[in-house]
Amino acid sequence: MNLLAGRSVVVTGGAQGIGRAIAEKAIEHGARVVLGDLDLDAARACAEELGGPGRAVAVRCDVTRADEVEALVARCVDEYGGIDVMVNNAGITRDATMRKMTLDAFREVLDVHLTGTWLGTRFASLVMREQGRGAIVNISSISGKVGNIGQTNYSAAKAGIVGLTKAAAKEVAHAGVRVNAVQPGLIRTAMTEAMRQDVWDAKLAEIPMGRAGEPHEVADVVVFLASDMASYLTGVTIEITGGRYM
Ligand code: NAP
Repeated sequence: MNLLAGRSVVVTGGAQGIGRAIAEKAIEHGARVVLGDLDLDAARACAEELGGPGRAVAVRCDVTRADEVEALVARCVDEYGGIDVMVNNAGITRDATMRKMTLDAFREVLDVHLTGTWLGTRFASLVMREQGRGAIVNISSISGKVGNIGQTNYSAAKAGIVGLTKAAAKEVAHAGVRVNAVQPGLIRTAMTEAMRQDVWDAKLAEIPMGRAGEPHEVADVVVFLASDMASYLTGVTIEITGGRYM
């Protein structure tokens, strides 16, 4: 299938995990990709593995910085002549119960997820509305729907992304720009591999399908939302959880 033939795609936090899987899947579907990541060396290595110049390029980008997100979008326009798809994926966790969580850890997580997604949505949609087309996909989490102990920062940020997605979708729908979100559940990446075994097992027990998801299974849904197959979808949030918390 070639759902994104000739489309240009930016993925933040694209050097590894779910972001990398999204970039890989987009390329499989005919897209050209810009990977933005804090870690330029990792993003460069990933871009090379995904086909190098003409298919994938890497840019150092901290999504909390407006100038760097603006430059990331501009690089896509310079490189490929426009931006068709923006995936706001970069993320971190700084888990602790409220009793132990520092204000810095709260703000840091809000900044990366919520400010980062707002900046990516803002700068991408500025270009997309001029083009009269574009699709933005924001990576929330099921933690934003149900709230997780030890994640008051992360759950707040991921719930905020759902509201941001809906508000932005309403603002730019008339210009041909769609904004949607996904809420992955337990997906096997570096972020979750750091989890204690008993915590992992407890989460697994809650999943009707009886297994964790793989990054490529999130990427499939993101490619669908980014593609013309989803041409009449905007402001929606799709859960990718194997049935957990349905
Ligand atoms: P990951 O493997 O840790 O990858 C996250 C990527 O984001 C890393 O490459 C990281 O770079 C980058 N990043 C972090 N802060 C950044 C910043 N300020 N600017 C730019 N890039 C930054 O995590 P993942 O599991 O793939 O998660 C990807 C997204 O899915 C996140 O938004 C996460 O919250 C969401 N999600 C994950 C799961 C799951 O189960 N894994 C479930 C629901 C939602 P460095 O390595 O250099 O820090």
